Amino acid sequence: MTDYIGRYAPSPTGPLHFGSLVTAVASYLEAKTQSGKWLLRMEDLDKPREMPGAADEILRTLESYGFEWDGEVVYQSQRSDLYQSYLDQLIDKQRVYPCNCSRREIADIAHAGIEGPIYPGSCRHGLSSHRQQIAWRLRVDSDRLVFSDRVYGNFQHHLKNDFGDFILKRADGLFAYQLAVVVDDAEQGITHVVRGADLLNSTSRQIYLQQQLGVSTPSYTHIPLVKNAQGEKLSKQTAAPAIKDKEAAAQLINALCFLGLDVTALSSAMPVSTLWQWALPHWQLSGVQKKIIQKNSEKS
Ligand code: GLU
Repeated sequence: MTDYIGRYAPSPTGPLHFGSLVTAVASYLEAKTQSGKWLLRMEDLDKPREMPGAADEILRTLESYGFEWDGEVVYQSQRSDLYQSYLDQLIDKQRVYPCNCSRREIADIAHAGIEGPIYPGSCRHGLSSHRQQIAWRLRVDSDRLVFSDRVYGNFQHHLKNDFGDFILKRADGLFAYQLAVVVDDAEQGITHVVRGADLLNSTSRQIYLQQQLGVSTPSYTHIPLVKNAQGEKLSKQTAAPAIKDKEAAAQLINALCFLGLDVTALSSAMPVSTLWQWALPHWQLSGVQKKIIQKNSEKS
């Protein structure tokens, strides 16, 4: 066993689809080929967006596809005290501030960032309205943050202009994904994050937050997204179909193929355990890297 600790962290907003399978396969094979641990975390923080029963269904599907995780599944919904204790550290260090602006107030005066309006900092020096509900925002004083992704290479954001002071705890009391994921990755000792490329934009914020909390930064690998015929990312919003247990072998082969492996020796009549036995010695992240290089050269 090396000191590699990876993880897979699905949100139970719906059942697994082919795009989530691809990420799970990449993250699993990266961990297993380095004799590492692979942890499973259910990111069920956002109860209003959760689909009842989806968390259990995801676990059943992963099992029937032959994934084996280490230790107990961690549920974010049970870790509010932990997230609060990290937020309290930031409150003590005055790295965060309370904010009671409404979305409307912000939208009226903000300029556009990468993921929506940039908060103009109205509450940085004291609450600016009379609303009772308070969110907590991180003070973002950094300009450029550069990180190296193992698939996409060097990536940078201008944190102040691209995201501004982002929310760590929402006015409705829910902890934000950015805080929860950083706390969990730190608490679980995650050394390697392998996840979908839709989260590339979150990584610089997470690294900044890790720096503010004094926790270590894992290595990041983002896997290209699977798109549907309309070029949209597979997701619940684009009505991506759930992967079925009885198609496990065929879907696993498709996922390995998407990840750049030559799967001609494989057949959907094979048991999933045989597919995994084959995949382990054949796995190379360079297959994914090549796909990105090809894509980029097609564009230019
Ligand atoms: N829960 C996120 C998702 O399902 C993944 C978060 C992460 O891997 O950091 O897209």
